[in-house]
Amino acid sequence: MICTSVREGVECFFMSKKGCKFTGGTCYPVVEECGTCNRIVEFPTGKYCMIYPDPAAKWRIGTCDMATHIKAEEAEKAGKINPLKASKRMAR
Ligand code: SF4
Repeated sequence: MICTSVREGVECFFMSKKGCKFTGGTCYPVVEECGTCNRIVEFPTGKYCMIYPDPAAKWRIGTCDMATHIKAEEAEKAGKINPLKASKRMAR
């Protein structure tokens, strides 16, 4: 169902006719660890993750497995950047 609260206009699994069913009745903003992740979207209500409704909880249990900025940093450190894939990524 389409969100009518903090991420207004976005299709969301937790939205219902009675409102948001997520813990606390809302999504939570991204945290510092989310850094420059590509999954962050800015709304008038703040910056939210397009995948996880509670980024802080995700990071509490370890590194976020969907973090795009961490994958890029790891690949850079390992020197495993494929120039073709990197240019495609940059084009997105
Ligand atoms: S995918 Fe992970 S790192 Fe990226 S914004 Fe969401 S919680 Fe943060």
